[in-house]
Amino acid sequence: VIGAGTMGHGIAQVAAQAGLEVVLYDLLPEAIERGLGAIRANLEGGVARGKLTAEDRDATVARIRGEPDLESAASGAQLIIEAAPERLDLKREIFAALDRSAAPSTLLASNTSSLAIAKIAEGISHPGRIVGMHFFNPVHLMALVEVVRGPASDESSVQRAVEIARAMGKEPIVVRDSPGFASSRLGVALGLEAMRMLEQGVASAEDIDRAMTLGYRHPMGPLRLTDLVGLDVRLAIAEYLERELASEVFRPPAILRQLVAEGRVGKKAGRGFYDW
Ligand code: NAD
Repeated sequence: VIGAGTMGHGIAQVAAQAGLEVVLYDLLPEAIERGLGAIRANLEGGVARGKLTAEDRDATVARIRGEPDLESAASGAQLIIEAAPERLDLKREIFAALDRSAAPSTLLASNTSSLAIAKIAEGISHPGRIVGMHFFNPVHLMALVEVVRGPASDESSVQRAVEIARAMGKEPIVVRDSPGFASSRLGVALGLEAMRMLEQGVASAEDIDRAMTLGYRHPMGPLRLTDLVGLDVRLAIAEYLERELASEVFRPPAILRQLVAEGRVGKKAGRGFYDW
């Protein structure tokens, strides 16, 4: 696992819980330590809640090794999942390095939530082995993995990613390499329409959210969810999807731009569509 942050440490944990031997690499040695600490704390919580035994915890921890050298981390791996920051140049650099140090049979996956797998795979000698494996936060609790099939991905790579996701206890779906994949595209469309309804006075924020929680059994309404994700984050995704998909569905509503300009970006700011 490349990158030991929010997503990387979670992916390392579920892989180790599935019985895989895991090597966790990060550019910063202190991030590796933090990631390993977070895994231990998560597992400890699982033991306290009776979800796993102390033996399982110890066996899981023993299967994860921190490794501050990329080449050593990559050589010998059968699967490498990259969870470094969401920047194309950075991911390209990492995949070029992996291309050099991993065996040609190694499956290479990116956890990108928005970048095109085709762009990440550009210039790589074996692009057929590159796929997306998009996990959700927090990784140990969220069931979905979007397996992203790039234009050059081999069918066998897609199938391996599906099988590995299942072995990690996840429920994979296979999506084509297109902006927002399935999850963000649909989730953001719902959130933006809820904002337009609020602007047009169709109902209050609370009642729009209740339409989805009570009427459709969503665990949380789209406006409350936007508050949790961050209005600034959702605005950036909407702008990206509007541009890439050339669709009015993703045109950011005025209320979203206005709240972001006022700093009302959601829970992290204490105010968004709701007061927190
Ligand atoms: P993060 O900032 O928590 O962690 C990124 C880690 O990568 C940091 O520890 C950083 O030190 C490390 N890093 C930086 N440069 C590196 C390099 N060259 N090589 C190796 N490691 C490097 O980020 P995150 O939230 O875990 O996101 C990682 C990826 O997962 C992004 O592509 C993001 O879009 C995606 N993602 C995030 C979420 C989420 O909710 N946070 C959900 C799904 C997907």
